[in-house]
Amino acid sequence: MDYFFQRSNLDKFVRMQASSILASPIAAVKGLGPKRAMIIERELSIRTVYELLFFIPNRYIDKRALTPISSITLENSIVQTQGVLQNIKLVKQAKGYRLSAELIDNHHRLELVWFKGYQYIEKQLKEGLHYKVYGKVSRFQDHFSMAHPEMSQISIQSEQDFKGHIEPLYPISDKLQKAGITQRLIRSILQPIVKSIDFALYETLPAYILREQRLIDKTSALIHLHAPTEMKETQRALDRLKFEELFFMQMGLLYQKIKQKTAIKGQRFEAVGTPFLAYYESHLPFELTEAQKRVLREIRNDMGSGLQMNRLLQGDVGSGKTMVALMTCLIAIGNGSQACIVAPTEILAQQHYHDIASKLTSLNIAVKLLTGSTSKKERSILHEELRSGELQILIGTHAVFEDTVIFKNLGLAIIDEQHRFGVAQRSKLWKKAEVPPHILVMTATPIPRTLAMSTYGDLDISIIDELPPGRSPIITSHRTDRSRLKVFAFIREQIKLGRQIYIVYPLIQESAALDYKDLMDGYESLCREFPSPEYALSILHGQMSAEAKQYEMNQFEKGTTQIMVATTVIEVGVNVPNATVMIIESAERFGLAQLHQLRGRVGRGAHQSYCILMTKDKLSEDAKTRIESMVKYSSGFDLSEIDLKLRGPGDLMGTQQSGTLQLKFADLVDDVALMGTIRALVQGLLEKDASLELQEHHCIRSTLQMLLRGKLLWSYIS
Ligand code: ADP
Ligand code: MG
Repeated sequence: MDYFFQRSNLDKFVRMQASSILASPIAAVKGLGPKRAMIIERELSIRTVYELLFFIPNRYIDKRALTPISSITLENSIVQTQGVLQNIKLVKQAKGYRLSAELIDNHHRLELVWFKGYQYIEKQLKEGLHYKVYGKVSRFQDHFSMAHPEMSQISIQSEQDFKGHIEPLYPISDKLQKAGITQRLIRSILQPIVKSIDFALYETLPAYILREQRLIDKTSALIHLHAPTEMKETQRALDRLKFEELFFMQMGLLYQKIKQKTAIKGQRFEAVGTPFLAYYESHLPFELTEAQKRVLREIRNDMGSGLQMNRLLQGDVGSGKTMVALMTCLIAIGNGSQACIVAPTEILAQQHYHDIASKLTSLNIAVKLLTGSTSKKERSILHEELRSGELQILIGTHAVFEDTVIFKNLGLAIIDEQHRFGVAQRSKLWKKAEVPPHILVMTATPIPRTLAMSTYGDLDISIIDELPPGRSPIITSHRTDRSRLKVFAFIREQIKLGRQIYIVYPLIQESAALDYKDLMDGYESLCREFPSPEYALSILHGQMSAEAKQYEMNQFEKGTTQIMVATTVIEVGVNVPNATVMIIESAERFGLAQLHQLRGRVGRGAHQSYCILMTKDKLSEDAKTRIESMVKYSSGFDLSEIDLKLRGPGDLMGTQQSGTLQLKFADLVDDVALMGTIRALVQGLLEKDASLELQEHHCIRSTLQMLLRGKLLWSYIS
């Protein structure tokens, strides 16, 4: 994969791993045995002693203090105390038995009671012996009692000899408990291991970083985690491990990015070129926003650098990404190259095509569309024109990835809505040119900052954080069936003003048949409510032929129809500035990103626009949060952060990327600031020492080596 990694031999890190007890399988741990070891391996994916050290307690209980029974004063407090056991009694009750005993210390009495497991417990207890107990106390008439205490027998009554500790509690499921994997067991196997770490674990972070960031060393962190002597130690341990986790995640991403950049030659576009300048000076339909200008400068710098551009362009719906895409194509063309734009759906590809072709008519630039429905004849002409270089911009769907599509000299590939394309597909485009083309990835759905830094961490990121001027925010409201008549009245009002309306129905794979029925029922009742000839309705859904879809789209675009009833096929790419109302039926069934996308179909012209979310009366907590967030926030970036909290990173990004997102210590919702700081730190470090050759960086290099070979997860970094 990488030149110096292949060259390197087993280094210190690997040797240490191999020789230490930490590398041995957990079955070898004393007191565990093969059967329980197998369960731990299966349920917790812990195979080695080393991995067991990363079984992180989720809570700690403070058992350092020993409260004399006489000092127990607060009801419901959790205390640890001790005394001599006396007066064990098993009393029959209305239902079952009640086992009780007394713990006596200096004539003070604490009652201990059990309602379950008494047969077994009774056998364990011995009157006259000293016990230490731990639990919650409650007041009972004139004395305190403790139900189901944790107990251990102690040999010395004297308080001086008592050695308390902070006890870690591990995340152990009921299932594991039943299989005999108890807190006590985990503690009893882990404590001796932790105590036996008498050599230092391999330190993965340079001393100067530990110093500057005020972090503790690796060995201390793991000891503090399992055997803290102060509560604050546990936090210090977690801070250190979290830092390390994020550090190596960013290191992995940025290291590869830099290597890739320097190893791969890029096409150098010396100047922006004539078409760009001509367009900019005399054909631009509007002034670019500051954000568009800034992003174009970033792109321009990349393309002129002699290195391959790999950039992610993020911007909210309607922020004007298409214009940036168009002008980026012009730079490529101006430098004698071809450009292509790939979109995930046919409708979106067509939309781009019409948009871009119409803007370029005056410039005499050859643009063509290639999709699944391009005829054979057109296709062969198009192939020929691509090979000869006559065709300058190709816009299309996946069809562009096909091997038969050969460019004379592809200099730029723009991929819209990347989350629908795999990385593998992206790299297919690379092979279409001798020197790989510049790549610009555009996402229509803003991604939370932490996710952008992790899943797209190998790309440079440009953000359009400004909408074109003159847009008034879309007014979003939440309605239920009870206000349907009012909603209809509102539709009439808007149509009277000359505006157009979208009404969208959910279409979900699992319930497709029912959903289609809902759509058709809805359409029929709308036709009755809005009868011809006064009104005209269009319908659009996935089961229609491409031609029928196109026809209906055209009718709506021309304004021949005023209401478009559709499934989410219109989610992306539809651009009808005269449409001002987006009504979403069963809005509770849509995800936040989708709702936001749909809302983005309106508010594209000069008129005040509206989004109406129709739901049933009773909503789940999550659905309520989604709907309320839509009403409250208009920015896709804000909504994406909420979405991340609701759904978690795996669901948000799809399972494809979930490997990168498996974090043990850091949290993609809470640690956004820390991740940013660490990314900047890593960037700076690699600028100084890209190959990690400095002595002080060898520890990073060896760790990274393991990570990139896939031998370690971020979470098990050593
Ligand atoms: P996106 O692809 O980011 O969702 P588009 O590129 O489709 O957004 O742009 C949305 C609308 O805004 C289009 O009608 C476009 O012509 C218009 N637009 C883009 N940039 C500007 C600008 N700087 N000033 C005015 N209108 C703009
Ligand atoms: Mg767009």
